[in-house]
Amino acid sequence: MVVGAGIAGLATAWWLERAGWDVLVVEKAPAFRAGGYMIDFFGPGHEVARRMGLLPAVEARRAPISSVASVDERGRERASISTEAYEAVADGVVSLLRGDLAEVLRDAVRSPIRYGTTVSSVEELEDFDLVVGADGVHSRVRELVFGPSSVRYLGHHVAAYSLDDPALSAQIGYRYQMLTVPHRMIGCYAVRDGALAALMLYRSSSSVLPADPAVALRERFGDLGWVAPSLLSVVPSDVYFDTVSQVDMPVWHRGKVVLVGDACGAVSLFAGHGASLAMTGAFVLAEELAVGTDGAFERYQARMKPVVARTQEFGRKFIGWMAPSSRLRISLRDMAFRLSGQPVVRNLIRGSVMPDVDGVLLR
Ligand SMILES: Cc1cc2nc3c(=O)[nH]c(=O)nc-3n(C[C@H](O)[C@H](O)[C@H](O)COP(=O)(O)OP(=O)(O)OC[C@H]3O[C@@H](n4cnc5c(N)ncnc54)[C@H](O)[C@@H]3O)c2cc1C
Repeated sequence: MVVGAGIAGLATAWWLERAGWDVLVVEKAPAFRAGGYMIDFFGPGHEVARRMGLLPAVEARRAPISSVASVDERGRERASISTEAYEAVADGVVSLLRGDLAEVLRDAVRSPIRYGTTVSSVEELEDFDLVVGADGVHSRVRELVFGPSSVRYLGHHVAAYSLDDPALSAQIGYRYQMLTVPHRMIGCYAVRDGALAALMLYRSSSSVLPADPAVALRERFGDLGWVAPSLLSVVPSDVYFDTVSQVDMPVWHRGKVVLVGDACGAVSLFAGHGASLAMTGAFVLAEELAVGTDGAFERYQARMKPVVARTQEFGRKFIGWMAPSSRLRISLRDMAFRLSGQPVVRNLIRGSVMPDVDGVLLR
């Protein structure tokens, strides 16, 4: 049984069913959730997608984003980095919606996926030979099997949602535009069919989310200009609203239960490689199980955990780039954007956007 039909769960189901396992996937959401936020997909996860034969489908969903721009309160560009320059620092990167990557995986999985289903007790897990907890950063499997978890709060809350506004979507275009003020960032970009995707990030000392996302977001961003009032006027009820956290636990398995993806090793949006590592974890787990079930979980963890730890450390350092704490830091980041055409600066940016994930796919 695989719990969670996200990136990690679907990729695990795919590899296990190819290896001859009978797989059942259970997913809490009542139906498949499309869309979501934009992710940059590269690194070892990209290579895993290639090995699965899914790169053409992933490429077909590539978002036509042409640049990432920092704008001021009137929407005037302060600095930008072209997609071409970004691709030069992030080899093979594909920007696409998280839901699009999940859809590619779901379409490739043959095993049954039971939506609107979750696990509520450890006893239920007894019915299966292998239980994979792929249920994300707030994993229920982790809580049931390992008790109170080791979640490291990174001091921010994040919201993401889409809205249908063809006029605004046309105005923003396929450019990721963001307005940053100390400790707060609001960004948006056009997505398909006249829709717009919004992302908001703000610093908070509390790891408990406010009860009403719309109220909280209006309180935090209501004083800002540019498109902020338009975005805040339509916060939908199904907004993605969460704390920004990492998961750090000493052991990823117990008995026949093993965790993959964010459930055991969330790196956070600051690190930006979570989807890639979720795919990688699925592959490494299946590869080690194919070598032999004895000790497979230990070998899987030994290969994955150091890479996850390095990426988490990298993510913590990246907070200051994504959510700068002062106007000076915002100006420095914008300067790096402006100079991103220069090879020297590109190399510096490469060092700060790419964690060391090399070698994880080698046995
Ligand atoms: C704003 C933002 C930007 C990001 N940007 C990037 C990026 O640029 N690049 C990148 O690689 N990563 C990025 N990430 C991280 C990436 O999205 C995650 O690391 C990745 O989705 C993890 O996959 P997962 O399958 O482990 O978890 P998820 O994708 O969260 O999937 C977990 C699944 O389990 C289900 N579930 C939860 N609880 C239960 C339960 N009790 N029972 C059954 N099912 C359950 C959920 O509904 C969900 O379908 C970003 C994340 C955010 C929030």
